[in-house]
Amino acid sequence: MFRCSDTKDYTAAALNAEPWLHHGFGTRESAWLTKDIATLKQVHSDRIAVVDGPRPEMFDEGDALVTRSAVVRLVIRTADCVPILLADPRQRAVAAVHAGWRGTASRIVAKTVDRMTADFGTRAADVVAAIGPSIGRCCYQVGPEVLEQLRTWVPELGQTAQHDCVNLPQINREQLLAVGVPDGKIFLSHLCTRCRAEDFHSFRRDKEQAGRMQSWIGIR
Ligand SMILES: [Zn+2]
Repeated sequence: MFRCSDTKDYTAAALNAEPWLHHGFGTRESAWLTKDIATLKQVHSDRIAVVDGPRPEMFDEGDALVTRSAVVRLVIRTADCVPILLADPRQRAVAAVHAGWRGTASRIVAKTVDRMTADFGTRAADVVAAIGPSIGRCCYQVGPEVLEQLRTWVPELGQTAQHDCVNLPQINREQLLAVGVPDGKIFLSHLCTRCRAEDFHSFRRDKEQAGRMQSWIGIR
C-alpha cells in the first residue's frame, strides 16, 4: 500500500492512482523541497491556510494547507507527528495536514475536510486520505494530560493507569470516518518513525538532534 519511490519518498497507492496529482511522504534520504512550495510555521494549532500559489515558510502560522492551484506543492514537516495528505478527485483539490497530539485533539484533519467543503464544494464521500509514517502505538506512551485530551476518541485510554500508549494515526482515521470519509478511502502506512531509524527522523528517539521529513502533495 505504501512504497518507497525513486525519490526515496514513500507514496500511497491510492494517491498514485490519481493521475492529476503527485505526492510523497519524505524519508531521511529525500531531497529537501524548496521550489514552488507553500509551507507554514507549524504551531500545533488547528489553523488551516487556503493557498493559491507558492509562499515561503514563516509567512503564516498554521498546521494544514489546502489548494486547488496547480502551481504549488503543499508541504508539511514532521518527526513523529502524523502527516496526512487528502485529495478530492471530483473538485481536484488537495490538502496537507500536520497532526501531533495537540492537532489531533483539536480535530485538525476533520476541520480540513470541512474547509475543503466550504471553499471548494468537496464532498467528504469523495475524499481519499493517506495517513503517513509517524510514531506508532508501539512507541508512543503518554501521560495523563495527553490521555485526557484524546479520550473522546478512545474512551478506554488510561482507564487503568496514568500512562498509556496512544495510536495517533488510528484516532485521525476515526475523525475522518466521523466527518464522512469512507473507510475504503482511508489508507494508513503502519510505519513507525521511532522504530525505523534507517528511514525516518524521530523526535522521541533523537531528541533535539532530530531532523524533519517533508510530506507534500500537489496538482499536476
Ligand atoms: Zn515504534
